[in-house]
Amino acid sequence: MSLSFDPDRLALPTGHFIGGRLMDAAGVLEMKRPSDGVSFAACPVADANIVDMAVENAKAAWRANKWGSMRPRDRARLIHRFADLMEKEAVKLAQLEAVASTRPIGQLIEGDIAVTAEQIRFFAEFADKEGSDLVPTDGDHLGMTMSEPYGVVGAITPWNVPISMAGWKVGAALAAGNAVVLKPSEMTPFSTLYMAELAVRAGIPAGIFNVVLGDGPTTGSAMTAHPDIAKISFTGSTMAGAAIMTNIARHGIRPMTLELGGKSPQLVFADADIEKAAAAIAQSLTANAGQACVSGSRLLVDGKIAAELVDAICGHLLKVQPGFTWDERTQYSPIISERQIRRIDGLVAQAMDDGGECLLGGHQMDHPGYFYAPTILTGVTQQSPAIIEEIFGPVLTVQEFADEQEALELADHPVYGLAAGVFTKDLSRAVRVTRQLQAGTVWVNRYGRSRDHILPTGGYKRSGIGKDLGREAYLANRQTKSVLISL
Ligand code: NAD
Repeated sequence: MSLSFDPDRLALPTGHFIGGRLMDAAGVLEMKRPSDGVSFAACPVADANIVDMAVENAKAAWRANKWGSMRPRDRARLIHRFADLMEKEAVKLAQLEAVASTRPIGQLIEGDIAVTAEQIRFFAEFADKEGSDLVPTDGDHLGMTMSEPYGVVGAITPWNVPISMAGWKVGAALAAGNAVVLKPSEMTPFSTLYMAELAVRAGIPAGIFNVVLGDGPTTGSAMTAHPDIAKISFTGSTMAGAAIMTNIARHGIRPMTLELGGKSPQLVFADADIEKAAAAIAQSLTANAGQACVSGSRLLVDGKIAAELVDAICGHLLKVQPGFTWDERTQYSPIISERQIRRIDGLVAQAMDDGGECLLGGHQMDHPGYFYAPTILTGVTQQSPAIIEEIFGPVLTVQEFADEQEALELADHPVYGLAAGVFTKDLSRAVRVTRQLQAGTVWVNRYGRSRDHILPTGGYKRSGIGKDLGREAYLANRQTKSVLISL
């Protein structure tokens, strides 16, 4: 069966999903399809009253259904059913994602959706395995740490991989026994709305998973200011993360997880397998057209192999073809918006004004949508905006080093520390360099996440606070009470 579909014939869910049903709401923010620039929908904006309604529904459902205190195995079973339904409804879910986002339909079914369903199952399995502890005390006392859910937690997600981001947040929060109010990006809300509907169909009580639509300044701010949202988990830019921290501090300190931006280096040493490194680097740049937090956008390479490696990377990059996200043959993603493509172009132009050279790309592609050609910049200095700024597009800067020390100095970014790649056949060097890199994740002789969901993800420096995935993400959705009983 072909996965390609006609985007004009797709019925879109609109409104907020509160208390287990879609609540009609007028569209406010114009939405354009990244694949062809056509205006096709408008996203509603929930104000503080609607956010409050969602929180009240979540609170009431959490209490009435004893979601946090039901037998953990029963909660896990419902979450497993939710994951099963996501796979069963993968085509519709993928269409709702592909129409508005940069994710090609062909990659969604086997990629984003299959992986997200597995991650949700991974979290469900913690529900009856992670628990409270008895701790050693003197014989006159019984001491324990009691692990408890927060109640209602908030989640705010970005546009770049919407299903995956919603899954990371909701999987951990629900398994840990919380009710959730989630705000997806105003640019890509439809798949998240449908996920919430599927959760209810799977038997998760209405009101436990709510979705409010809207932008950051209105809806996001109302969430981070809401006194009954006990914890916030955010994924997005470092700038918005700072605004969220400020708002939380102003309205009552609460725990938060912040998964923020990155500008990740890939260090290739002279003894590396050049073909393997080239394929991994090209893939990290072209995946979602570089619109990934962990995109390996800074190539640091030993000068002795630089020309050979860059040549091999170019070979891969020259093969990409733009295509509509609703066409199953498409592999290369559009840029999310016209504004973002202008920003990428501006940063590339500035790098060239500053003395850099564009070896490849450096322009919008010939297509009705917002496609940017994979771009390689050389001759950029460590102070150049092309190195400092998270470009969030398919732009690779190339810097050469003479030795390990210089490689590490160039790798050290003044702002970000999300991920890094190291390519070398020398095991001692791999470990030595990994230990010194200031990054939340280091991949050695590969680049990009695997399906090992036990590995947490999160940033060093201003790339974030706390972790998604792994045991850490589950535990971040629980709080610990210390109890001491005098016998
Ligand atoms: P963004 O920060 O503009 O928006 C993210 C979300 O936050 C959206 O839902 C937006 O409406 C909301 N928001 C914006 N301002 C807000 C505010 N003041 N208060 C509350 N909510 C607010 O980011 P984006 O453009 O959607 O996504 C791209 C960014 O996300 C990149 O920086 C990327 O690196 C980052 N990202 C990080 C990870 C990670 O795991 N570290 C994963 C994916 C994306």
